[in-house]
Amino acid sequence: MTINFEGRVAIVTGAGNGLGRSHALALAERGAKVVVNDLGGARDGTGASSEAAREVVAMIEAAGGEAISHGANVANFDEVEDMVAQAMAKWGRVDILINNAGILRDKSFSKMDLADFKLVMDIHLMGSVNCTKAVWEIMREQNYGRIVMTTSASGMYGNFGQTNYGAAKMAVLGFMNTLVLEGAKTNIHINALAPTAGTRMTEDLLPPAILSTLTPESVSAGALVLCDESAPTRTILCAGAGGYATASMYESDGIFISADKQSPDEIAAQWDALSDTSNHVALESGPKQTEKFVMRAMAALQG
Ligand code: NAD
Repeated sequence: MTINFEGRVAIVTGAGNGLGRSHALALAERGAKVVVNDLGGARDGTGASSEAAREVVAMIEAAGGEAISHGANVANFDEVEDMVAQAMAKWGRVDILINNAGILRDKSFSKMDLADFKLVMDIHLMGSVNCTKAVWEIMREQNYGRIVMTTSASGMYGNFGQTNYGAAKMAVLGFMNTLVLEGAKTNIHINALAPTAGTRMTEDLLPPAILSTLTPESVSAGALVLCDESAPTRTILCAGAGGYATASMYESDGIFISADKQSPDEIAAQWDALSDTSNHVALESGPKQTEKFVMRAMAALQG
């Protein structure tokens, strides 16, 4: 095995079931010491139990690995801090964080109450923020960290009935894009995983024959690449059923319209040209967009 996590300490949130469990087992199999976090509630986030996380720890230990369980609710920063403190007390470092915990509260937007919207944002977005915040200074001091955000095609492309979930899953990408810039100097790489897998989250959405191809293990194989020392940074890895791809956001080259002609009518008239994707690029940071536009305006003024 080339990819190896001997000496590394990993925290996997929501690791009592589904993808998180599979990530935790795969990391441990390759030598990582693992904090198996899980609140242990139902798919909609109700209830709590430490049973599932303890079972994963027992599986890791039975295979000769090291793991501890922690029942932190990722939406609660105090509990997350306690989880990280326990990892530090036991192993003295945290190298890998997979922000995986999540719930669903699906309903069309017109029927969704705001409490369900906020809860989903709180667990997916703030859960990822809380866990990242709790390990950030540790990783900076170590001059090493690998963080994985779990996004979703529902956020990147939309899915009926998932405005809350889609918003939260897209938000973790925004969080990642800036963290990547702030973590670069201290060797912290942040990537995102867009999985598709047969878990309790999806078991009633797809027929059994299709679900059988969508194994969590096929996704974890990709997730581990993002946890490795050689991991890229700011990559969105899409994975499911043995299919692997990357996703990116591109901006068209666009057009320039001089001040005397900047009107809605002129922009509408040039829509095909401004949205032409033949020269599109993925910008490396937000200010690069301002730079592109201002450079053109300056060139027009000078020329
Ligand atoms: P799952 O329901 O099997 O597992 C999620 C786990 O997170 C559960 O064990 C649950 O107890 C735990 N959890 C929920 N809220 C928590 C909280 N507040 N604190 C700590 N733990 C909590 O679901 P899954 O399919 O394995 O999903 C894992 C991640 O992958 C989620 O972020 C999900 O949104 C994402 N995802 C899954 C799919 C898919 O096809 N299964 C697709 C896109 C994204």
